[in-house]
Amino acid sequence: MKSCDTLIIGAGITGLNLAQALKHKRKSIIILEKSRGLGGRIATRRIEDLSFNHGLPLWPEGIESDEITKRYGSPESIGLNSLIKKMAEGLEIEKLKRAHKISKRLNQWEVTTDDGDIFYSQELVITAPLPQALELLQQNNFSIPEILSDIKYSKRLLSLMVLKSEFKIPDINFGDHHLRLVGKSGLIFMASEIFSETHFEESDADQLSHLNLLIKNLLGIDLNPVTQEIKKWRYAQAKKFLLEPFIELEPSLFLIGDAFSAPGVQGSLESSNALAQHFA
Ligand SMILES: Cc1cc2nc3c(=O)[nH]c(=O)nc-3n(C[C@H](O)[C@H](O)[C@H](O)COP(=O)(O)OP(=O)(O)OC[C@H]3O[C@@H](n4cnc5c(N)ncnc54)[C@H](O)[C@@H]3O)c2cc1C
Repeated sequence: MKSCDTLIIGAGITGLNLAQALKHKRKSIIILEKSRGLGGRIATRRIEDLSFNHGLPLWPEGIESDEITKRYGSPESIGLNSLIKKMAEGLEIEKLKRAHKISKRLNQWEVTTDDGDIFYSQELVITAPLPQALELLQQNNFSIPEILSDIKYSKRLLSLMVLKSEFKIPDINFGDHHLRLVGKSGLIFMASEIFSETHFEESDADQLSHLNLLIKNLLGIDLNPVTQEIKKWRYAQAKKFLLEPFIELEPSLFLIGDAFSAPGVQGSLESSNALAQHFA
């Protein structure tokens, strides 16, 4: 059992940015993260010495990130993986802790994780992709305004490939399919929203064969990778977002993240900054 002033669910860029921005305003902040790794949808997988960014591919152009650059260095030059590591420095993060029970007792939030640990806090902030946040809240009998349930996310299927030899083509967009080089012999293919939606529930083997056929048809050649992995995102990006930077669902229970204020990472940063400013 642990107590803190602010309990944050999720160690993606929203949760990390909020915790860093609140560090001097709150004595104790704990982040609960269900995964082993940090960063959420800013995710890097190493295969044969190559680093594949299989979530957010690159730091988005034109994003307002002066504050991020001042604190951690420019995301374009340090890379997404290092950015997340730097953002997590000095924070109390409980990994492999999935929040699943939420209740309020004697003016305190009580959050129980899958493994039975209990965390108490004055403020509770949920940063999971909005549909996941709502699922968690509904499971715990909170009522959800319809405007929140209207926010849907796109799905994405990706193929991470290492080829036998160098592959000399520039990054290519085929409509909403994107192919990017990773180092000299790595390729990452992100299938379109429609393709990903159509094949999302299939078995790994079926997804693999559909992805390979699609890549072959687009490029006109069989790549025959020596190593190949599939990555799947049920909630890749919000298809629309709310203009509010955050929602206070009940006193001291907040929802923030990339469904608020602006699309993608811009929304994550804007909503977490706005909530940090809102906190006295
Ligand atoms: C393939 C792909 C391409 C993208 N392309 C772009 C792009 O071009 N431009 C752009 O701006 N954005 C893009 N995005 C979206 C961008 O990556 C996200 O908007 C941003 O990373 C969201 O960060 P977040 O912290 O709000 O959410 P997340 O990164 O999803 O973090 C939420 C965290 O909460 C954790 N969590 C969830 N439920 C629980 C629970 N019950 N208990 C404990 N922990 C929990 C999750 O494990 C996760 O780590 C892309 C995303 C993907 C996947």
